[in-house]
Amino acid sequence: MPVPQFDYIAPKRVDEAVAALVEGGKETRVMAGGTDLLVKIRHRMLFPKRIVSLKQIEGLDAITFDKNTGLTIGATALLADVAAHRSIRRYYPTVADAAQSTANVQVRNMGTVVGNLCNASPSADNAPTLMAMGATVNITGPTGSHRMALDQFFQGPGITALKTGEIVTSICVPLPPAGSGTAYYSLSQRGKLDCSAVGVGTMVTLKGNRCMDVRLIVGACAPVPMRTLGAEKMLIGKKMTDTLIRKTAQAASKETSPITDVRASAPYRWKIVAVLTIRALADARKMALGKR
Ligand SMILES: Cc1cc2nc3c(=O)[nH]c(=O)nc-3n(C[C@H](O)[C@H](O)[C@H](O)COP(=O)(O)OP(=O)(O)OC[C@H]3O[C@@H](n4cnc5c(N)ncnc54)[C@H](O)[C@@H]3O)c2cc1C
Repeated sequence: MPVPQFDYIAPKRVDEAVAALVEGGKETRVMAGGTDLLVKIRHRMLFPKRIVSLKQIEGLDAITFDKNTGLTIGATALLADVAAHRSIRRYYPTVADAAQSTANVQVRNMGTVVGNLCNASPSADNAPTLMAMGATVNITGPTGSHRMALDQFFQGPGITALKTGEIVTSICVPLPPAGSGTAYYSLSQRGKLDCSAVGVGTMVTLKGNRCMDVRLIVGACAPVPMRTLGAEKMLIGKKMTDTLIRKTAQAASKETSPITDVRASAPYRWKIVAVLTIRALADARKMALGKR
């Protein structure tokens, strides 16, 4: 079956991309790597009249790191480049791991981290880690530019806070505080090749073995990647023992509201959230204590 027809525009500047989006209105879609978008068009789930590609915009693929300002990942930076980036591997190893655990080598060499977030799949592999690390999204649109916490960005399956004509130009990730550790664990039917049935990302900050701060995010078990605030509260100010980690993991699982679908049943997901949360918290603790 032939692919539905659309106009293809590849502007050289962000303002031109915004203008093309505004002119095209609701029938227009932004494209980064196209690994999600073109599959949906081919499967006739979407029928855009116009596609605005970001690939020709100079500098939008930049990955920059500074110890004061943190990490910035441009909208067209590839998953593969994020996974392999030297500073990311050194200062944000879990961001690199999450990018590396997304899809297969072909998709990672076409698809982007920002596209993974803008796709707003509840199972997006890069969302839990970036949310746990307090990432923000830089947005440019017809009324100018603004920044938004990634927590606020996801509104539902396939729905973001972006308004008509807006694009994400980059995401920023602050440098993790001293004494912190991060981890991401996911599970899917075909290893890392397909979308996750469950993903758990966390960042903990310890003083000695006492938990001073924690963010715990579960993917694919609610309409958006969700922060399990009740479970987090159980850890704050306490010694991070194995027993407390296990109890916290059970609490995190109870907070989620998974569905049964092609990837896993709801009861299985509940169990796996607890298992992956134990592993993620234990690993993050290890990193925070300098043992990983
Ligand atoms: C075989 C296969 C396996 C996959 N496995 C996984 C997996 O294991 N884990 C996983 O999380 N995902 C997986 N995916 C989904 C997909 O590949 C990723 O989500 C990828 O990161 C999307 O990036 P992209 O640049 O190709 O996005 P695109 O397809 O270009 O865009 C995706 C969506 O985001 C919008 N968008 C993109 N960039 C912007 C922007 N800068 N501003 C505003 N809107 C924007 C587009 O309009 C579109 O709606 C898989 C896909 C395939 C085909």
